[in-house]
Amino acid sequence: MGAVVEEFRRKDNSKKMKGSGEGGIKTARVGIGYDSHSWCAGRPLVLGGVEIEHSRGLSGHSDADALIHAICDAVLGAVGAGDIGVHFPDNDPAYRGISSLVLLARVREIAAARGYRVVNVDATVIMERPKLRAYVGGMIANIADALAMDAAAVSVKGKTNEGMGFVGREEGVAVMAVALAAPVGTS
Ligand SMILES: [Zn+2]
Repeated sequence: MGAVVEEFRRKDNSKKMKGSGEGGIKTARVGIGYDSHSWCAGRPLVLGGVEIEHSRGLSGHSDADALIHAICDAVLGAVGAGDIGVHFPDNDPAYRGISSLVLLARVREIAAARGYRVVNVDATVIMERPKLRAYVGGMIANIADALAMDAAAVSVKGKTNEGMGFVGREEGVAVMAVALAAPVGTS
């Protein structure tokens, strides 16, 4: 295991992150997350914890929920807690087939342990098909539930890549997400 990973784990064991500003005053912090998974025949397509009707799913160790993985990374990034691979290694059998919503709920606990809550999340799922519109409400409800926040503070958008690149060739999907975290007790 690399030194960087050890460093993140060590920090994660601390009860609270030191203030991000001068004098230890915590401020709101933004984080970014990105994930991509390749298409895989014979697996269900799960995004935002919603099973989507489609001819194939995504490859991956857990449920391959790229949307939730990107949001996990955005939240972990916002609170300076590394990334999803540090906390939930994909070679750990404990995470085989697990719902990524469970991981997102744990990410919320990691943020809380550092004195942060998530203010809002915005994500864009980039895939040629199927259309996500009918499923977005369910995804938002799941994400809000896992992060213990209001559904109005969660946004999920679907987009094609206009036929370009690996998404356009339908080799896989990509997701981008941002999350804002604020110190607990602030509005
Ligand atoms: Zn992933």
